[in-house]
Amino acid sequence: MSCSSLRHRFEEERVRGISFQRAMDIYREVEGSVAAHKVELEELRRTNADPSRINHLQEHINDGEKLLQEIKSLHLH
Ligand SMILES: [Zn+2]
Repeated sequence: MSCSSLRHRFEEERVRGISFQRAMDIYREVEGSVAAHKVELEELRRTNADPSRINHLQEHINDGEKLLQEIKSLHLH
């Protein structure tokens, strides 16, 4: 599942009320894709890939990390 669809799913479920378990599941998935993107990014840098691809990937990582922060700061009511 891509970063943006994970965010979408999180946003949707948060509106309806998300369980701690679901938030944890999504958190782990986002963490996994951020980690995978970091490996990819290293690879691109090492091979002097197209800077626009590097930037695009960096954006995914930033968005993913932002989502992780949001999940971490969720308030349970
Ligand atoms: Zn991504």
